[in-house]
Amino acid sequence: MKKTLAIIGGGAVGLTSAIHAYNMSKGNINIIILEKMDRVGKKILATGNGRCNFTNIYATYENYYGKDKFFTKYFLDRFSAKDTIDFFYNLGILHTILEGGKVYPYSEQASSILDALRNKIDSLKISVKTEFEVKSLNIKKDKFKIISSKGESILADKIIFATGGCASQNLGSNGSGIKILKSLGHTCTKLTPALVQLKTPPEKVKSLKGIKITGNLKMYSNNNFLKEEYGEILFTDYGISGPPVFQLSTLFARYNNLIGVIDFMPNFSEEEVFKILKDRKKILNYTNMENYFNGLLNKRLGNIIAKNSGIEKLSFLVKDLTDDILKNMANLIKNYKLEILDTNGFNNAQVTAGGINTDEFDSKTLESKIIKGLFCAGEILDVVGDCGGFNLQWAWSSSYVCTEACVKSMI
Ligand SMILES: Cc1cc2nc3c(=O)[nH]c(=O)nc-3n(C[C@H](O)[C@H](O)[C@H](O)COP(=O)(O)OP(=O)(O)OC[C@H]3O[C@@H](n4cnc5c(N)ncnc54)[C@H](O)[C@@H]3O)c2cc1C
Repeated sequence: MKKTLAIIGGGAVGLTSAIHAYNMSKGNINIIILEKMDRVGKKILATGNGRCNFTNIYATYENYYGKDKFFTKYFLDRFSAKDTIDFFYNLGILHTILEGGKVYPYSEQASSILDALRNKIDSLKISVKTEFEVKSLNIKKDKFKIISSKGESILADKIIFATGGCASQNLGSNGSGIKILKSLGHTCTKLTPALVQLKTPPEKVKSLKGIKITGNLKMYSNNNFLKEEYGEILFTDYGISGPPVFQLSTLFARYNNLIGVIDFMPNFSEEEVFKILKDRKKILNYTNMENYFNGLLNKRLGNIIAKNSGIEKLSFLVKDLTDDILKNMANLIKNYKLEILDTNGFNNAQVTAGGINTDEFDSKTLESKIIKGLFCAGEILDVVGDCGGFNLQWAWSSSYVCTEACVKSMI
């Protein structure tokens, strides 16, 4: 009799695992995908702003964070970005490589990726059970009894557990899988939203709400420089958003007392900014602070810089600016400090930093050391990647390796 592999979670890992399992077993095992939502792969549709940045040609283990810094290396070596591109090519997806090595389907539609996976799964006649939210697992005599929230049950010989993390719950993953694994003896590191907007003291950003600037964001923890990113930064009423913020947001999970420092004029040194400001004092000596930053900085930003440099009223005359005030302004323009209070929560996050402890899994097969026959992959584990296609690459790489090991143990 054919053995049954149950894949819990029909996301990036689950869908690819099903295809690999079919190919690797040459159709000699039963495969069933159990998905809590009404459709599989909902999150894939939202990736890359609807374009699905499905891998990154520069992906290495250095793009990933977790308790074990090197954990992803083996999996990325076994199933690399090139393997991902080839895998999807064989499902009809031509790719395009954009800035920073980000890879998208040539159609620039995330739905292409999901449709390619779904069409293949349909063609292989793999069973997909949607609206099946796994609530618990019972293990009896080498068999798993998988019980849904509606009380239905399914028996399986092996399990690939791929329920994702806690980010963007409306798209499916709500941490329920993590709870189940914990109930079976696994442990979990601290869970923090990542690739997400950051909260700062509102009074430092509120009046800048809606402004987009292209600048540099540096992150410090206890005065130690950590990392910097350049790009478009958006101010909101609670904090900051935009690609550099998302990229640096993974630091929040790992460091205390984070301070973000924005450089609004990254093409100039502080001395050059001071010289520019001094020049403007001469050029604009006929007007007041209302007009001083016009053409240099966003007007509202200029007002904040003036205010924070001790100028109470915009009626202050430009000709009365002292060198000390100008130096202060230059310093603020180059180093606008924002205390990072929090992230903007799991519902707004793209991924989860933290997860089920990776040292509880075989580092070459991803089989649980606690529950034999159960394999885990993807975001549920304590692995989080940078922004730019790295998180999906982790899903594809871990899916391939764990499916190979799982199928080998079944045939
Ligand atoms: C808005 C957004 C944009 C993103 N953009 C990108 C991008 O462009 N590039 C990139 O690399 N990464 C991106 N990511 C991250 C990436 O999508 C995830 O890291 C990846 O999908 C994780 O794959 P997974 O299979 O582990 O989990 P998921 O894809 O989250 O799949 C888990 C599945 O399990 C199901 N499930 C959960 N609990 C249960 C249960 N108890 N029973 C049954 N089923 C369950 C869920 O409904 C879901 O379908 C983005 C994420 C978001 C939210």
